[in-house]
Amino acid sequence: MSVDHHRILLGSANPGKLKEYREILDGLDLELVAPNDLDRVPPEPAEDAPTFEENARHKARAYALASGLQTIADDSGLEVYALRGAPGVRSRRFFGEDASAEDRNARLLAMLSGVEDRSARFVCVTALASPDGHVELFEGEVHGEIAKMPRGEGGFGYDPVFVIAGDGRTMAELSPEEKHRVSHRGLAGAKLRARLAAGQRA
Ligand code: IMP
Repeated sequence: MSVDHHRILLGSANPGKLKEYREILDGLDLELVAPNDLDRVPPEPAEDAPTFEENARHKARAYALASGLQTIADDSGLEVYALRGAPGVRSRRFFGEDASAEDRNARLLAMLSGVEDRSARFVCVTALASPDGHVELFEGEVHGEIAKMPRGEGGFGYDPVFVIAGDGRTMAELSPEEKHRVSHRGLAGAKLRARLAAGQRA
């Protein structure tokens, strides 16, 4: 089957993720399109598997099969050790589907009130699927701890409450370029970028 390497579907409705993949893959000879940009918008795949890997694989594969386009999908989240890994794979829904990022961050800080071990990590699994159903996975993680108060205006989601290990700033206090150099998505995305660049040369 011939695969169109130049038009790639970014299988996500999350504007933060879309923006970050556009930045991370900037300069490659490809056009990234969102599901809503397509003439026939593919249905949003279920995201109910117990691991980031399975969710990323399923999302990318379902979007690629439905659209006929090579597809990138990302499942990511925040794991807090004192909460036994929560919000984890349910990061988007843990505090309710309609909660704003500010609400979620406030509720996470409330859950950790008085908790000494605030260590946490962000995890990202990025899947690249072909329309024939073949999937490759790329992973990244970053360690840190949950701040006492939100800080910074950049990024999205839990970024204002995640303090990067060995840095001291929250993820929301970094420029986009700085975030991509250290973040879970930036690290997974660098591997994806290398794979796509090699594919372009092939
Ligand atoms: P999903 O992968 O669409 O299920 O949702 C991932 C959720 O994890 C996002 O909605 C955020 O709440 C959180 N998350 C993932 N990556 C990041 C990040 O880079 N910064 C802040 N929050 C993130």
